[in-house]
Formats: sequence, structure tokens, C-alpha cells
Amino acid sequence: MQVTNPASGELLVEIAEDTPASIAEKLVQAREAQRAWARTPLEERMGCIRRFRARVEERTPELARTLTTEMGKPITQSLNELRAVLDRLDFFLERVPAELEAEVVLRSKDGGLEERIAHEPLGVIANVSAWNYPYFVGTNVFIPALLSGNAVMYKPSELSTLSGLEIARALRESGVPADAFSPIIGGGEVGSELVRQPVDAVFFTGSYATGQKIAAAVAPRLIKLQLELGGKDPVYVADDVDIDVAVTSLADGAFYNTGQSCCAVERIYVHSAIWQRFMDGFVSAVRSFRVGDPMDESTYIGPLARQKAQILHLSAQVDDARAAGASVLLGGERLNRPGYFFAPTVLTEVTHSMRVMTEETFGPVIGIMKVDSDEEALRLMNDTEYGLTAAVYSTDRGRAEAILRELSVGTAYWNCCDRVSPRLPWSGRRHSGIGCTLSTYGIEAFLAPKAWHLKRPRS
Ligand code: NAD
Repeated sequence: MQVTNPASGELLVEIAEDTPASIAEKLVQAREAQRAWARTPLEERMGCIRRFRARVEERTPELARTLTTEMGKPITQSLNELRAVLDRLDFFLERVPAELEAEVVLRSKDGGLEERIAHEPLGVIANVSAWNYPYFVGTNVFIPALLSGNAVMYKPSELSTLSGLEIARALRESGVPADAFSPIIGGGEVGSELVRQPVDAVFFTGSYATGQKIAAAVAPRLIKLQLELGGKDPVYVADDVDIDVAVTSLADGAFYNTGQSCCAVERIYVHSAIWQRFMDGFVSAVRSFRVGDPMDESTYIGPLARQKAQILHLSAQVDDARAAGASVLLGGERLNRPGYFFAPTVLTEVTHSMRVMTEETFGPVIGIMKVDSDEEALRLMNDTEYGLTAAVYSTDRGRAEAILRELSVGTAYWNCCDRVSPRLPWSGRRHSGIGCTLSTYGIEAFLAPKAWHLKRPRS
């Protein structure tokens, strides 16, 4: 497998991929390792994860450089991801002990009967992951999985393989047995082979299209499956907002990580009373974003990670919109420079008959529509198969909450967007996925309850 730098197109390294035989062999070893790991006292497992946390913190600058080199995330944003991941690790370390504790739910007065709920690990889990935030989406899965006694076969995306190998190295050096966390290297075919194996659960982060394939492959085995998929996240800007604050927040929400966030702002509906002022501010904010070498600390927009396929996808969405009458206020095409750069693009005069307003874009392109009322905004926001996040910007909390309650999404934002908290459940509905990571729900996801009915013999 070739790893290339998307900022230049240059080959970085070639790495051997896993094969069906090597994956099957790693599963045999993972099964054995899982039994021993589950028997290891929780305090020792937590010690390993604390040491992992220390290593990530110590190596942050070097890990950030690797991430930026292989997937093009601007260096300041790679550093942000690595620093913020520590908060997630702390959350899991703090909350896991209580979640693993067995609960006695009944003890009869004479002590003859006890009912108890125990929490057991699922076993060996396959984790097929995405590249856009490898540390966030990876740790959401493998940290609570390992803490609760599971073994993990972790397939990083082919676009963030070097970061995946760094994660495996740091876990190993922190005392997690190598077979309890084994990296599986390769692209889609290797991922497909991994989920075909007789693992106990599959946790996937990626696109709806791949999620569907995995769901179909796993279905006959009736094992636990979680899917964290894409979105077409809408925002409504009401007529009572502070326009400058909304503009700054939404330009960042749409273009951070070069628009490649699962919860990036993907469509904006602006009340007609503030339309022109909002648009003037928004276009000028996006124009001020510095596009360039992702290793440069002043760069805000880097190259796309997915190279040619993603450039074609963005061009097709923009061309389709243009042909149907959209106005391109900014950008609209690939940049003429080495690497895989697409100009930050702002489209108006868009409608829901255009792909850019219905399909996930996952790049530096945003469509913005004028609306005349809250009702119209709500109808358009709800017009999607996705259900990841939605946001309302308004000074009136009651007005915003009334709209957000009517939206079928996993996350609702008032006056903020593109934000994830370890303390809150992260989940999508319909085409955005099944199941949940983060919060205590995201620990329970890796546990199976066992009901104990314990009856003392009569003496
Ligand atoms: P992708 O679906 O192309 O790939 C994801 C992973 O699946 C990769 O590791 C890939 O090698 C593997 N894969 C591809 N085909 C496979 C198959 N047939 N069987 C098994 N594995 C296969 O997605 P991506 O480009 O890596 O990530 C971008 C997508 O992920 C976007 O849609 C984004 O919104 C979504 N995402 C969602 C979340 C979330 O938390 N909801 C977080 C990050 C990214």
C-alpha cells in the first residue's frame, strides 16, 4: 500500500497490507489475548491507558506532523485534535469503573435470593475507522473497548495508516498486550475481509455507502454492530442574531478541517431580513481563510485527503448546482497547484433539487439559502435522510429549542456547531448511523449485561 502526501502528491512510504490469512491469524491471537486481558484487574488496564495518555501528550508535536503529512490536516488543527483527545481519555478513565461495577438490584429480606446485573466485555471487536479525525474517532471506540476488557482489531483508514501505527505503538509501549490491540493494515478490501471474520462485534466510522455494505455483510451473524456515518448538517440563522458572531462561528463550522468533519456545517438557511448583511460577512470571512501548505502554522485550509476521487466529487456537486442556476460567490474549482487543493467555495441561489444541498459534500463547499420564516427553515432542515446534527442561531433560546425539538437528529446546537463533548452521547439517526459513542452510553456500548439469579439452598 502506498502512503502519499496530499499536499504534494509525493510518495511517503510503502507498507505491506494485511492478507485474509494474516487477519485470521491475528483473530486467533486476539481471542486468546482477550481472555487474559479481561481477567487483568481494572486498575492495571487503567494504568496502561494512563501511560498511553502520557505518551500521546509527550509526543503531540511529532504525532501532529505525521497526521498532517499523511492526510493534509493543517498543523494547528492536528495539534488541536491531539490536545483535545486527552480530555476524552480522562472522561473514560473517570467513568469506566462505575459502569463496570456489578449492581445488586434485589436482596430478599432473609438473604435467600439475590438478583445482580454484571457487565461483561463483548469479546473481540473489529473497528474499521475513518481518517478525518483518527485520534478522536479511534479513541471513542478503542479506549472504552479496552478499558472494559475487550480486544480490538483496529483498521485505520488507508489515508491515516501511519497515525494508526503510531497509536498501536503507543498502546503497546504503555503495556496493552500486542494481541489485545492489533492494527490491521489496508484499504476497503482489507476492511471487508476483517468484518467477514467471526469477531464478536463491529464498530465502524465512515461513509453511509460503506456503512450499508458492512451492515449487509454482518447482518446474518446477528452480532453487535455500530455505525457512525456521515451527515448533511443544517443550520438556521434567525433574524435576531448578532450577525458577526454567527458569521465567524459558521464559517469555521463549515470550513474547519477543510470541511472534512462528519458534523461540518453542510447547508445554511438564513432569514431574509438579514440575508445581505450575513452573506457579505460570510463571503469576506471565507475569503480571509489562508489556503496553503498544511505544515505552515498560518494555514487554515489544506488539501483534501481523498485526493482525486474527492476533487471529482466536489467538482460534480458544484457543476450540477451551477447548471441548475446556482451562483458561485467564491471558489468553485480545483486550485492550480501541486497536491489536492479545492478552492473554498460559497454557493447561493441553491435548491434542494441540487446534489450540493442533499448529498454529503465533505469538503470546502457550502450552499446557503434564503428563507422567510422559522417554518420554512424547519421544513428544509428536515428534508434529508441524514440525522447527525442541526443548529439554530438566535438570541431567543425558546425559539431555537422549539425548532430543534422538531428535528430528528442525534445532536442539537443552539448558537454553536461542529462541536463534540465526551460527556454527551454522539449518535446519528437513519443514514447517519446506528448506536452511540462517548458519554456513559459510549461505555455501555462495549458491554453485555449478564443477569444473575442467585438462590441460597435452604439449610
Ligand atoms: P469510507 O466509508 O470511505 O471509509 C471508512 C473505512 O472503511 C476505511 O477504513 C476504509 O478502508 C473502510 N472500508 C471501505 N470499504 C469497505 C468495505 N467494503 N468493508 C469494510 N471496510 C471498508 O469513509 P472515509 O472516507 O474514511 O470517511 C469519511 C466519512 O466518514 C464521511 O462520510 C464522514 O461523515 C464519516 N464520519 C463519520 C463520523 C461520525 O462520528 N459519525 C466521524 C468521522 C467520519
